[in-house]
Order: sequence, then C-alpha cells, then structure tokens
Amino acid sequence: MPPINLYNTDVVYLKKSIKNDLKIDNFLVKELNDNHAVIYTKSLVDYKNICDMLTKTEANYYTYTPKEEKKITLILKGINKNYNCDDILHCLKTKENESLKFEKVTQLATKRSITQNISLPYYIVQASPNSSINAIKNIKEIDNSIVTWENIRRKPIQQCTRCQRFSHTASNCHMDYRCVKCGESHKIGECKITSEDGRDKLYCTLCKQHGHPSSYKNCTEYKRRMQIKEEMKNRIKQNISQRHMSYNNYVQTGISYSNAVRSNNINNNNYNNYVQTGISYSNAARSNNVNNNNFVSKSYNENTRNINNIDNNNSINKILEELRNMQQNFNKFEKQLSEHSVMIAQIMNWYGILPSH
Ligand SMILES: [Zn+2]
Ligand SMILES: [Zn+2]
Ligand SMILES: [Zn+2]
Repeated sequence: MPPINLYNTDVVYLKKSIKNDLKIDNFLVKELNDNHAVIYTKSLVDYKNICDMLTKTEANYYTYTPKEEKKITLILKGINKNYNCDDILHCLKTKENESLKFEKVTQLATKRSITQNISLPYYIVQASPNSSINAIKNIKEIDNSIVTWENIRRKPIQQCTRCQRFSHTASNCHMDYRCVKCGESHKIGECKITSEDGRDKLYCTLCKQHGHPSSYKNCTEYKRRMQIKEEMKNRIKQNISQRHMSYNNYVQTGISYSNAVRSNNINNNNYNNYVQTGISYSNAARSNNVNNNNFVSKSYNENTRNINNIDNNNSINKILEELRNMQQNFNKFEKQLSEHSVMIAQIMNWYGILPSH
C-alpha cells in the first residue's frame, strides 16, 4: 500500500487510536524526524480506514493513489475538435467488455488553448483501474473516425498545488494550504497578489525566498530535487546494468559451455581422423586380406567406442558442471531481481518516474 506521510502529529496517541479505535494491528510507523512520520499498511482496507480517520481528525498528511484505484488515462487523437465528450464516451461504451470499462472523456486544454479560447482535437479518456491498456489501444476506430492513443506525458517532478511539496498531487493531499504565490495558508484562487504586483512580493515556500513563486523551475530547492531524482534514476540504471553484467557473466558461462561443446567437436575431429585412418587402414587391409579387414573393422569399432566413451564422459561432466553453474547463477539472479524489483517499482512509482500504468 502507498505510505502515508504524516506531519505534526502525536505518534504515540496516533498508534493507540489505530490499534484501539480502528482495531488495526498490522501497520508500521517510521518516524523520520520530530514532525514527520510515515505509516505503512498491508491491506487496502486498513490503508483506507487510517486515511479516513486522519481526514476526520483533520491531520496534516499526504499519500498516493493505491494501485488498485489508479484510473487508466490516455489521450485520444483523431476525433474532430467539435465533438461532444459525452458522445465520445457513449461510442467508447459500446466497445466495453470485461477488461474494458470507460468512465470519463474530457477535451484536452492547455494554458494557451484556454487563454486563446480555442478547442483542441485531443481528448483525455479515463478507464477503470482494471481495464487493459492494450485493449484500449486496440480501438482503432470511433464513430467511423480513425483514431490513435497516446500516453499522457507527466511532468519531471510532481508538485502538489495545495501544499507545494513534491512527489504527490493535491487529490491525495490533506496538508495545510500553502499558496504558490505568497506562501500563506489560503485556498487556491484566493491570493491577494495580482499580476500587477511586482515579483518582489512573491514568496517561495520551498526555499523560503522572495522573488519567485513555489512553482519556479530555477528555485534552488526545485533544482536540488531534480538532482536527487536524476541520481535515483542513475542508481536504478546502474542496478539494471549490473544485472546485465551478471547476465553477461551467465552468457560467458554459456560460452564456456559452447567451448566445452567445441572441445567435444575437436575430439570428434580426432575421432574423424581416427576413423579416416581406420578407413584407409581398413582399405589397405582389404586390399591385402579379407580376414585382416574383418579384424581391422572389429578393432576399429572397439577403439571408436572407447574413445567416444572417454570423450563423452569428459564432455558430459564439463557440461553438467557448467549447467550447475548456470543454474546457481540463475537462482541468484532471480532472487536479487525479485528482492529489488518491488522496491524499485515502488520508488519509481512514488517519485513519478514511471507512468502510473
Ligand atoms: Zn500537498
Ligand atoms: Zn497567496
Ligand atoms: Zn524557491
């Protein structure tokens, strides 16, 4: 379940409330500092009950949308800009099945399209969390128009429009309001600073400086955050490339396996040489004496069998050894991957590196 970030709360009292009032025992609390604690839960029900309790008590917290509830959102292209969103939804609903439920269609608007009052021929389509993205992308036609689908491009860092903190959205935020322009605790759209006021009046809640809003991309705090994110990305990339290296090691083991096979081939060549020798010898023998020929054939067969046994035993042992190595490497690789994959996916998800779906 997503972590719940909690600020300025009496953790001892909170833990008692979770245990006694909500009857939840399966949870963990990590206190990051005197003001900031993180609650981890195991089930969606527990997670939601704790969130509900925190909301009711007007606690300062933010969290993330659980995977089970994340709606699938894609951009639909190819439909005329003058279409009614409900009509598009109606058309989409005729294509629904068990793995496909459409919920909402809105027309995409950008800052520029709003100020210039123009409509764009792009629609944001929302489907239920368990809908199949591939099934949506396989819809190539809507109301006789050829359509295409695109993923929504997310901002490099998510910033909450309610509290201005990073990595979460206002829909999951129950922190006190912090105005993007003045830093005061008032609702969005109620700021006293107007566009006529100078930049000096602006106050950034992140770096605690006047002169720019909290959404300023050149803010030292924003840049620091971008740097952390880049470092995390690189670390994950490094992890992946290290895995590739262990994979390559494994492939190298594979090469030594092929070497073993090759050496077996060399032995086979020896065997072929031997056979050739045998044949020429047997030819010579045949030309001399039929009985001799019989004798040579017999000894040739015996020798061949012996050589084959010796080589095969050596090669099979080598191959078995290599296979055992490969299996061990695979087990290690698989174990490491499963140990880290959940953590990597969670980190990437929480920090918005991965698209939600
Ligand atoms: Zn927030
Ligand atoms: Zn303000
Ligand atoms: Zn700043």
